[in-house]
Amino acid sequence: MDIVLATRNKKKIEEMKKIMREAISGADINILVPDDFPQCREVEEDGKTFEENAVKKARYISECTGLPAIADDSGLEADALNGAPGVFSARFAGEDADDTANNEKLLIEMKDVSRERRSARFVCCMALAVKGAVRTFFGRVEGRIGTQMRGTKGFGYDPLFYPEGHDRTFAEMSDDEKNALSHRGKALRELQRYIGEKGLAL
Ligand code: IMP
Repeated sequence: MDIVLATRNKKKIEEMKKIMREAISGADINILVPDDFPQCREVEEDGKTFEENAVKKARYISECTGLPAIADDSGLEADALNGAPGVFSARFAGEDADDTANNEKLLIEMKDVSRERRSARFVCCMALAVKGAVRTFFGRVEGRIGTQMRGTKGFGYDPLFYPEGHDRTFAEMSDDEKNALSHRGKALRELQRYIGEKGLAL
């Protein structure tokens, strides 16, 4: 079974491949990425919600490749910032901002916020598109924003995010530890359950 993962983020591709392979063990699954299809263009993430963006990406890549496609849109919601950075997580500090710039901006925006008010969550919407039909799956992980970056693993806001009940950030955890707790892991396991029960018939 060929499935295209509609993302160019190498870290996400690694995470998703690992989870998919474990989730759909036994099935003969061949995971492809947009770089395998140079005819497909970049999709603009201009939706107001994670779901709008995920559906748009999955639908386009599935149409363009003629194959089932999975796209995710994800981000961080900080309660003290009314849900920001939200759908703007990747470009919080500007269009070409890197992870460090985004983390630094988050620290500055939250510099006067007390520990009790630093609650936040990662949210992931995973969309599966097959032959024009689309289904979405969600995952969330609650936690809090630290006051300094810690750890070197993962990507994005991982060095600032302490999942609830843990005193290490995602960037201090192994891939397996993070995947077991993370928004993306949860959404993918929902997707896996669906495919396990219904196959790719949406
Ligand atoms: P997307 O590629 O549009 O989904 O962008 C999501 C952005 O949200 C990423 O660039 C990160 O800044 C942030 N993000 C999403 N998932 C994670 C995660 O697992 N760890 C850290 N940051 C994440």
